[in-house]
Amino acid sequence: CKIDYQASPDLLENRIILVTGAGDGIGRTAALSYARHGATVILLGRTIEKLERVYDEIEAAGGPQPAIFPLNFEGATLDDFHDMASTLDKEFGRLDGLLHNAGLLGRITPFEQYDPELWEQVMQVNINGPIWMTQALLPLLQQSQDASVIFTSSSVGRKGRAYWGAYSVSKFATEGFVEVIADEFESQANIRINTLNPGATRTQMRQSAYPGEDPDTLRTPEDIMPTYLWLMGPASTGISGQKFDAQPPRA
Ligand code: NDP
Repeated sequence: CKIDYQASPDLLENRIILVTGAGDGIGRTAALSYARHGATVILLGRTIEKLERVYDEIEAAGGPQPAIFPLNFEGATLDDFHDMASTLDKEFGRLDGLLHNAGLLGRITPFEQYDPELWEQVMQVNINGPIWMTQALLPLLQQSQDASVIFTSSSVGRKGRAYWGAYSVSKFATEGFVEVIADEFESQANIRINTLNPGATRTQMRQSAYPGEDPDTLRTPEDIMPTYLWLMGPASTGISGQKFDAQPPRA
């Protein structure tokens, strides 16, 4: 079972894995966890100090030397994504894993009051940016013998919920995009693309969505790592176009 998956310490040895939103929340923990299992991690995010802290933690733990890639999905252009691809190509020559984790909640508000600019921003960060970044990185993923691309979804990307606006729509788009691209890559055994819903997890984003909630009642990012490791590593090779959950539904 993926939720109980026990990863061997060398699970991700020799793999080059890019994590977006690696400075905080689930992305931070995923980057640390991938490095702990042997991966060379590329830490992508918009707040450099946070990325540097994660970098230092990986170094202090004796993990493979990571790399930092500052990028803000708001305002990032196709050129930025292609520059990124050529930098990574020079440095590493391939990409074995891509965890699309960065995300923006926007506002939880009735649609009648939803600000169109904020809507665009959320779509940019949660789906449009990640899509064009993926397109730019495809040649590097093709160079891998076993590449895993993971898009982060949400329960509101599988069933709509009142007031969740652009966030919910962006996650539906994520699910749809993964169905389309996984189907296109069906005959390429070396690339798999899936969605992963972390479920309610103790982070800043969860706290802003549910300000009245006691965070101690929630699973931590560390708790949900078994599925993140399972889906990134060789245990899930050959599985593509599927939707996964990192924790059982809450009672
Ligand atoms: P956090 O808000 O804690 O972390 C989000 C990360 O994304 C941060 O590192 C943030 O950077 C980064 N980010 C936000 N905007 C941008 C941007 N414009 N450019 C680059 N990076 C950006 O959220 P979580 O860890 O909770 O969420 C991680 C993923 O999981 C998201 O996709 C979210 O939708 C999804 N999710 C989370 C759930 C939960 O309960 N926590 C439930 C369901 C889905 P910075 O630190 O600089 O702000």
